[in-house]
Amino acid sequence: MADTFSMMINGKKVAPKDTFEVRNPSTGEVVGLAPDASMADLDAAVAAADHAFQTWSKQSDAQLRAACEAVTAKIAENSEELATLITQEQGKPLNGLGSRWELGGAGAWAGYTSTLSLPMKVLQDNNEGKVELHRKPLGVVGSITPWNFPVMIAIWHIMPALRTGNTVVIKPSPFTPLSTIRLVEIMNEALPAGVVNCVTGSDGNDSVGAAMSSHPDIRKIVFTGSCATGEKIMRTAAETMKRLTLEMGGNDAGIVLPDVDPAQIAEGLFWGGFINNGQTCAAMKRLYVHEDVYDDVCEQLVNFAKNIPVGDGMAEESILGPVQNQRQFDKVKRLVDEGKKKGRVLLGGEPGEGLFFPPTIIADLDNDDPLVAEEQFGPALPIIKYSDLDDVIAQANKSENGLGGSVWSKDIEKAKEVALKMECGSVWINKHGAIQPNAPFGGVKKSGIGVEFGEEGLQEYTDVQVVFS
Ligand code: NAD
Repeated sequence: MADTFSMMINGKKVAPKDTFEVRNPSTGEVVGLAPDASMADLDAAVAAADHAFQTWSKQSDAQLRAACEAVTAKIAENSEELATLITQEQGKPLNGLGSRWELGGAGAWAGYTSTLSLPMKVLQDNNEGKVELHRKPLGVVGSITPWNFPVMIAIWHIMPALRTGNTVVIKPSPFTPLSTIRLVEIMNEALPAGVVNCVTGSDGNDSVGAAMSSHPDIRKIVFTGSCATGEKIMRTAAETMKRLTLEMGGNDAGIVLPDVDPAQIAEGLFWGGFINNGQTCAAMKRLYVHEDVYDDVCEQLVNFAKNIPVGDGMAEESILGPVQNQRQFDKVKRLVDEGKKKGRVLLGGEPGEGLFFPPTIIADLDNDDPLVAEEQFGPALPIIKYSDLDDVIAQANKSENGLGGSVWSKDIEKAKEVALKMECGSVWINKHGAIQPNAPFGGVKKSGIGVEFGEEGLQEYTDVQVVFS
């Protein structure tokens, strides 16, 4: 019999009236029963966070830092339990760039964010007067997260909010709510009641997220997820003029210049495209390769990819797991089937058992083919041959999205020139998707609004107040 998980409201576990099943994508087994929150549950969580804000926001900078460091220590103490729960509900393996790695990232981000602060700035101090810029917490922050990195993204949302004196209500994805519930329980061991609360809702019950976006007592929404949902949130949030950080979908291009050594870049290209089975916002989702090295790059990439063990996430030897859910699986299958009509399948292409889909590489596609033009968010990489650099930059930029991009070359200066012409928030040279806690990360165009991480990310959890004297 699977465990029933509770919501966390005002420092207490609140047993749900209704529940929904959370299944392991590797096996189909029920991992646990998650609460299907009502509007009253959401209101109670927001009220608790609002009440806690009255004292939390008055903590000194040193107290906030110490509390965030205590939370970071709690995450480290419980990391194996959280990693196991992620693997069971998300499917990603314990090993490789899987759930233990995700917990390592969560700890690194929590620790680094604890050390950041936004002290008062003196803008002017002369005989005409003094001007001070203060950064003040907003109030209750509503966090809405996706299913691909449930714990790491929760940390990205919660820690900067706490560090700047805000309180939080988090609503995880219906596909992966359990690890977030446990994360919030663990955080509550180190925090006053009401500072971080968690409510969960079932798939198809978007009403909880939608109600957060319009809730009069939530001052900001930080959202990571699809473009379609981000647009809905922006519309709904307008009425209460909420602050918004929206980290949405990407269709990142990688551009390989003719001077590369294909054997040397194959591993980086593979992980750029297939990290977390391709279910990563800033994964490489289209690969453009110069005609001079096209055949070699295809061959070396396939040689690397064909040896990656795919299997049940709980098996220590697995490096990639299943696709997380049926909806995503169906999308990947549709796009691969489209790709097969015109392209050359170099690896994979046929679905496996259940939700397993092998790493798939399809060459000889064009910019308008669905596997290139749409975000696949799964283990399928299209390769496009090019001959002219300006033309390929234009192709890469011909997208509504602009999250990340990469350039691959031995000539770093040349690669940087290309990077600056790409319309996206981050560009990597000879790697892809390597985010870090001290560098702001966010999308341009339809990939989002605002940034996370670093000082710029922290600022998004504050209002500016200028004092003239
Ligand atoms: P999704 O938009 O379907 O769901 C994300 C969250 O929004 C879930 O918690 C969901 O319950 C909630 N939600 C759904 N409808 C809502 C509504 N009307 N109002 C408020 N909340 C609502 O996204 P997903 O399928 O979980 O994640 C995949 C997408 O997320 C991909 O497009 C991927 O690129 C993107 N993503 C982006 C980043 C980034 O940092 N830019 C990171 C990870 C994932």
